[in-house]
Formats: sequence, structure tokens, C-alpha cells
Amino acid sequence: MKVGGAVGNASANVLADLAGRTDYVLVHGGSAEIDRLGVALGRPPVHYTSPSGVVSRRCDPGQLETVVLALTGKVQTELVAALGARGARAVGLSGVDGRLLLARRKTGARAVVDGRVIRLADDLAGTVERVDADLLRGLLGLGVVPVVGPPAVTPDGLVVNVDADAVAAAVAGALRAEALVLLTNVPGLLRSATDPSSVVARVERDGFDAALALAAGRMKKKLLAARDALGAGVGRVVIGSSQVEAPVGRALAGEGTVFA
Ligand code: ADP
Repeated sequence: MKVGGAVGNASANVLADLAGRTDYVLVHGGSAEIDRLGVALGRPPVHYTSPSGVVSRRCDPGQLETVVLALTGKVQTELVAALGARGARAVGLSGVDGRLLLARRKTGARAVVDGRVIRLADDLAGTVERVDADLLRGLLGLGVVPVVGPPAVTPDGLVVNVDADAVAAAVAGALRAEALVLLTNVPGLLRSATDPSSVVARVERDGFDAALALAAGRMKKKLLAARDALGAGVGRVVIGSSQVEAPVGRALAGEGTVFA
């Protein structure tokens, strides 16, 4: 289960719907909180555009510090507290804890600035390469709900930011989960990004590229996460809304965009 962290996500609905369950890992992002804390610290967020047109969060050492403070220090702590208040034994883990998420540092990040391509040598972003599924299974076996979010860590101990949707896909894949549910601030993949009634109900493997062409910005990352999770053996992936009553039950019942 992954709950988004952009403005408009309703994590309270998600937490209420998860009460009483112990059969899941909760993965979180937190982009709105990273942005808010960055502004409060006098270090507002910066995004850059790669030569191929992909927009990413800039993660120099100062920005990474904000990411870690916001995600592990605030978003994760609050999710764990809220799950605890609803009767769950929840434990928060970043990818650094127990080296849960081992990553490779992305080298060669490049940005287009004033029409010129520059190298971002100090960017601390990575790609998750291995998930310690035994650690998660051990916790689940104790009836503990793991609450997992970025950052991740490289084998030599460098802390790197990673995409939370990719974390969710990697965790679901490592556990061969029955389902991966990505709850967000829209009702699914939309044919027209401004029309919430234009949800694409189902994406089959051979329709993936057409679906990807509909997505812009961060929705693209969710689609790539869906594809990776299915490729790793996850039964099905659903992108659904966090803003409705009982969002988890609805998504598991197929409300949203189902990838199979
Ligand atoms: P979260 O924090 O929940 O992971 P993101 O902001 O990362 O959410 O991703 C969801 C966003 O993707 C939507 O709010 C929307 O602005 C954007 N988006 C771009 N293209 C589409 C599309 N075709 N359908 C739905 N959302 C889209």
C-alpha cells in the first residue's frame, strides 16, 4: 500500500481503512511536506529538467537534508503514531534502517539551464536495487506493520533520495505481493488530466505504452512503478484515489486504474 504525499492526498481516510489489518506494508512519499519544510528552513525546493524532458527534484546535500527531515522525521513519524492510535503495532523504517533499501547512486544527472546542459555532480539521488524482504517478512510475522519511505542507502553508506512509487514497486515485488495499491490525489490514470471522470479502468500489458503516453509528470512514475511491480511478480496493481471513503477497499475492489 502506498499513500502519496502531494497536496490533496487524504491519508486519514487511508489509515481509517487500514485499521484492523496486519497484512500490508505501508509505503509513503511526502512531497508537500518536503516543500513546506524547505520553505520554512529558507531552502525552497528546486526542480530541474533533464535533456530528455523529465522533471526531478534537485537533491544536493542541503536539499537531501530537508528530504530526510521531512520524510523520516515528520511524515513517517506521524503515520506510525496515527496507525498506533488505531490499534496497530507500526514500525517506521527508512531505507537506511537495517539497509532495507539498498540503492545505486545515479551518476550523471544532467539539467538543462538556459539552453545549456550542465552536470549535477553533487546530486544525491539513487535507484533501489535490493529490498530486504526477510526484514519485512520478519516484522509482518510478528504482527508489526512496516511503514517504509525514502531515503535509501548505497552499499558504502551514502544516503540517497529515491522515488517513493519506485520504492512501493520494489517492496511489493520483493514480497511477491498479491496487490500493489498506489493511492493518490486523482482517481486513477486519466485520459484527460483535468477531467476526473476520464479514468482509464484497465491497462493490459500490451496497452502499457499507450497508457504511458496519456500520463504527464509524476503520473508517469506511477505507471513505470506499476509495470515494474507486475514484472517482479505482483498479482495486480491499482492506482486509485486516497480522497474517498474506504480508499483501500475500493481500490482492491478494482476502483481506479487496474494493471494486470
Ligand atoms: P502523489 O504524491 O499522490 O504520489 P503525484 O503528484 O506524485 O502524487 O502524482 C499524481 C499527479 O499526477 C496528479 O495530481 C496529476 O497532477 C498528475 N498527472 C499527470 N498526468 C496525469 C494523468 N494522465 N492522469 C492522472 N494524473 C496525472
